[in-house]
Amino acid sequence: MATYSLHLAHLYGDLLNTYGDVGNILALRYYANLMDADLTTKVISIEQSFDPDQFDLAFFGGGQDYEQMIVSKDIQTKKDGIVKFINDDKPMLAICGGYQLLGHYYIGADGEKIQGIGALDHYTLSQDHHRFIGDITIKNEQTGETYHGFENHNGKTYTGKSEQPLGVVVDGHGNNGEDHQEGAIYKQTYCSYFHGPILTRNGELAKRMLLKALHNKYPDADLSAQEALEIKPTF
Ligand code: GLN
Repeated sequence: MATYSLHLAHLYGDLLNTYGDVGNILALRYYANLMDADLTTKVISIEQSFDPDQFDLAFFGGGQDYEQMIVSKDIQTKKDGIVKFINDDKPMLAICGGYQLLGHYYIGADGEKIQGIGALDHYTLSQDHHRFIGDITIKNEQTGETYHGFENHNGKTYTGKSEQPLGVVVDGHGNNGEDHQEGAIYKQTYCSYFHGPILTRNGELAKRMLLKALHNKYPDADLSAQEALEIKPTF
């Protein structure tokens, strides 16, 4: 038994899970164990309620436009809970389709408007018969960390003023192929187009999320050993 325990909500894990995005949860569990924490997970999907107070972390993966349309309808009922979770400064990771649905809307590849929940201030347009596909490298200018991944998306996302990019594009396309930004950060919510999955190749981000979750849940604990955990590059 570990000293600490964390509970993660896997939003729509049965519908939005392309390109091994679920590997992000394996990475979180791996690093959680190194930090003396157990990580339990629960898929929260269609017609299931989401109680933000039951969870310390959340993960929301990517998917095809068809599944996104199904999720788009249901997620409106979970909007208040997700907004509360974000405003409570709890760490969440949203990838690709999940990233798009946290924003205002996504125009799908066939021109259909897929409504998001507007929890974050970005919107996503469509490309005409084109996708951004390939390896991508970005650098986060606040932390100096470099992240490596693989992108595959039709959407072109434009972030709002309250969001910081996850990184500046060093190589690849990023949010929209125009402004050299990739992903978004708002409070403790990290959004990205990286598959691959992002946390298996970029463990610093997994550590950051887990530390925040532990500090939130155990404000009086001495987490210096967890802070000191060294992350070895895995690419
Ligand atoms: N369907 C969305 C797009 O093509 C999201 C893709 C994904 O999650 N990989 O942009």
